Amino acid sequence: GVDLEHISKRFGDHTVLDDVSLHVDPGSVTAMIGPSGAGKSTFLRCINLLERPDSGIIRVDNHEIVTGRRIPARELTALRRTVGMVFQSFNLFPNMTVLRNVSFPQEKILGRSREEADARSLALLDRVGLKDKASSHPARCSGGQQQRIAIARALALSPSIMLFDEPTSALDPELGLEVLAVMRELAEEGMTMIVVTHEMSFARDVSDHLVVMADCHIIEQGDPHEIMTDPKEERTKRFLRAVL
Ligand code: ATP
Ligand code: MG
Repeated sequence: GVDLEHISKRFGDHTVLDDVSLHVDPGSVTAMIGPSGAGKSTFLRCINLLERPDSGIIRVDNHEIVTGRRIPARELTALRRTVGMVFQSFNLFPNMTVLRNVSFPQEKILGRSREEADARSLALLDRVGLKDKASSHPARCSGGQQQRIAIARALALSPSIMLFDEPTSALDPELGLEVLAVMRELAEEGMTMIVVTHEMSFARDVSDHLVVMADCHIIEQGDPHEIMTDPKEERTKRFLRAVL
């Protein structure tokens, strides 16, 4: 599982996360919603240390990282291997084939041989329905396909948790559905996931736990159905009225 304890983050004198703690059960899907500027992306980026928290503790599996000090490179690398991340923009390497996009990080980060990495990449591309695109370049793929390639690339490193930051919000609704279907399958297979999303149906139907973030805090969390039908906080009510 994952435990984030007392995570705080400021940019200059602007506080973005104020003592945020979150527990994530292994094999569960946590959906995170909330208004723009709440700190959702910053929080996700803190989990794999793309953003350095000013303070707080990050626990993923048997890794524990105390932030607010210099973090040894070895700890950073170990954490990043166990935390996969998929962004709104797919960030694929445009000059590499689809296959290479998925296999290259395995060679670089895990030291796998080209053969081993390619074999694993093909299996993962097959799983996201894109085996036939292996030798194409990303520019020849639709947005939904590119996002599924990004998911395959992250899965190739065998992470124990996957973070998704609005993975479908740059996509046409129909292409978004392809991506959501892959994410739903992952969830059913027991992948631990934290998903920042505006897709309220995904949050309601797929997630096990719903977290509402506003003004640098988690203001409410619990059963997704319960929060969507009977939110406790006024700020949550206002947000849900706007998006449902
Ligand atoms: P959205 O729903 O629009 O994606 P969010 O909840 O993901 O919003 P964040 O992107 O985490 O919000 O941003 C939270 C706050 O932190 C915002 O006020 C933003 O301007 C600020 N912020 C984020 N990144 C930086 C940065 N690198 N430097 C300065 N301020 C930043
Ligand atoms: Mg964001």
